[in-house]
Amino acid sequence: MSNESWGECKDCKWWQIEPEATIQNQSMGLCIEEELQPFRLRVSGNSGCTSFMKGAPARAKGSSAAPPTAQPTR
Ligand code: SF4
Repeated sequence: MSNESWGECKDCKWWQIEPEATIQNQSMGLCIEEELQPFRLRVSGNSGCTSFMKGAPARAKGSSAAPPTAQPTR
């Protein structure tokens, strides 16, 4: 299986974290990739998947809650 499109959440534009959170391996956030949104997937900075898209994270309060309470901002 190709690893070409795999990347870590901390470098992905679909990662949504708390407004004041730092971008690091242990920070928790909500994955807001469109097809994954129904799962309300809560992922750490060093999690990752093949829907990775390079970019800066979105930010919204409640993104790191379990379960996440923030709405996707993208
Ligand atoms: S789970 Fe995948 S799509 Fe979602 S933020 Fe992490 S790398 Fe991006």
